[in-house]
Amino acid sequence: MPSRPVFVVTGPSGAGKGTLIKGLLERVPGLEVAVSATTRAQRPGEVDGRDYWFLSDAEFTRRVEVGEFLEYVPYVSGRRYGTLRSELERIAKNGRTCVLELELEGALAVQSEVAGSVTIFIAADVPELARRLRGRATESTGEIGERIELARSQLEQAHRFRYMVRNDDLERATAALAALVECELVRVGTMGRP
Ligand code: 5GP
Repeated sequence: MPSRPVFVVTGPSGAGKGTLIKGLLERVPGLEVAVSATTRAQRPGEVDGRDYWFLSDAEFTRRVEVGEFLEYVPYVSGRRYGTLRSELERIAKNGRTCVLELELEGALAVQSEVAGSVTIFIAADVPELARRLRGRATESTGEIGERIELARSQLEQAHRFRYMVRNDDLERATAALAALVECELVRVGTMGRP
């Protein structure tokens, strides 16, 4: 039986990765998003174990040391984010196809380490990214500036990934993302399998 792909959705902060993935899950059955671990603070409305596993610095370090992470990165303000191997195993065991939402370095690491990974870069123009980040109002002004600067340089790296979807129009971008995921699933013969 062919092995299932692992879809990796990447792109700058504020590109709308989370919203696009939500739309993707509504359109394509059998997908599940892995819950990452992070040391950043929990935002209002976020739930531990659903949005992220919120870990202390010490706990994150302990898990790095025992090899629990497939990849992890330090991000803005020294916060760390990482993909737990156990999440991929859990999703595969449930007969589902894994979707990862990662920043660029993590996506590149998974692209080179995981056979069957399919990377998708979500692009948006800089004024739009800035507007989204300010509208979200969950980070401090300094941190938003840092994320916008990072986004600017990250947009130039789209070519390093298998696919790119421009999130200029949410409906169109969600449809494009769902179509390419379905194509990949059909290609490896997993589409429609329970
Ligand atoms: P946020 O703080 O907005 O939730 O996430 C910041 C960035 O971290 C986003 O670009 C998100 O895709 C990325 N991210 C979330 N989880 C992981 C992870 O497990 N590994 C990596 N490399 N990046 C992650």
